[in-house]
Amino acid sequence: MSTRWPRQILFGDIDAMFASAAVIADPSLAGKPVAVGGPPPRGIIAAASYAVRRFGVRSAMPTIQALRLCPQLVLVPPDRPLYTRLHRQLQEVTDRCFPETEWTSIDEFYADTTRLQTRHPEPRALGGALKADILRTTGLTCTIALASGKTVAKIAADAHKPDGLAVIEPGAEAAFLAPLPIRSLPGMGPKSTEAVERLGVRTIGDLLVPRFASALLRLFGTRLTALQSLARGVDSDPVVADRETKSVSHETTFDEDTNDPAVLEPIIHEFLETLTHDLRLEGLAAGSFTVKLKDSHFRITTRQRKFPAPLNYDPDMWPDIRLALADLLQSRSRYRLAGLGLSDLAPAPEPLFDRRQRDAVAALDRLIEQYGSSVVRLGGLPQGEDGSLKQKRRKET
Ligand SMILES: [Mg+2]
Repeated sequence: MSTRWPRQILFGDIDAMFASAAVIADPSLAGKPVAVGGPPPRGIIAAASYAVRRFGVRSAMPTIQALRLCPQLVLVPPDRPLYTRLHRQLQEVTDRCFPETEWTSIDEFYADTTRLQTRHPEPRALGGALKADILRTTGLTCTIALASGKTVAKIAADAHKPDGLAVIEPGAEAAFLAPLPIRSLPGMGPKSTEAVERLGVRTIGDLLVPRFASALLRLFGTRLTALQSLARGVDSDPVVADRETKSVSHETTFDEDTNDPAVLEPIIHEFLETLTHDLRLEGLAAGSFTVKLKDSHFRITTRQRKFPAPLNYDPDMWPDIRLALADLLQSRSRYRLAGLGLSDLAPAPEPLFDRRQRDAVAALDRLIEQYGSSVVRLGGLPQGEDGSLKQKRRKET
């Protein structure tokens, strides 16, 4: 029988959500090497099923390269309305199970389950029941992890994918993390990992080994303390629920910390494109926005501003957001995470833009439905090669 945990965080992550959604839409694809993405020559893989990951296919890889690795690959175009519908069904499940849920992307969520322990004293039983509920309601499998903090829960889920259930008991965090490769820590991209491995540091536990201490301090400076706390499994980041459900947001953690506007602007801009596309589909407009950055010391800063009027056409919104981002950026800081939220959502006043513009936007929206937002731009920043932004991300669906 487990004893009551002082703090209990549940993390859930749908397994290869976009690829799994393709199978829900077309059950004849079950078991086939499905990937979601754009066609060659310029398309990229947006999401890879576990069947194609075995061939080395990864998200953000050019489709042409994926086809070389896995010639029998079944390429499916993105289907945003389906993802939105599945996300709503997932939210119905989490709303039933938890008083508050923090969604960090369309298919990942945290819930603080500390107070649920009275009714659900067994964390494994709680996780198992949630997995069953999600599968029954949506047809999607997921991986659930429970731990004393968000980071350990996330790492545990990553280590138990797909269709996994992990419970890291309080006090067992450091022992669980110790043997894992250093790149399992959020924010440890290929470059940092390489630099750390040159020192002989291979596992998360090595971050706490005294003989590496001085070399690690030279490498990370003051950031080392935060990393070592994580390596001990110490993480008191709260679950911040969208109490105000009338908002949408998107955020990503980078492989390498950066403060380069040339890197950050296109990422925030792409979030804006995706979010406004969803707003237009639902006939909503946003009255305000929040730009969020987390620096290498895990400090979060935000800028929240109001639009002059509720908007859902991204070229009209981008100048304000771009200014807020410039305002937020500190030249001496480097950032590990960036996010954009749109809030004060309300039904869009009709018409938000003139008819000709509206028809053009509607046509573009149909193209986005067909091919995904990466092939269509509604103005604003020029884009590089497909995937040039996505390769900077570490998140997979
Ligand atoms: Mg996922």
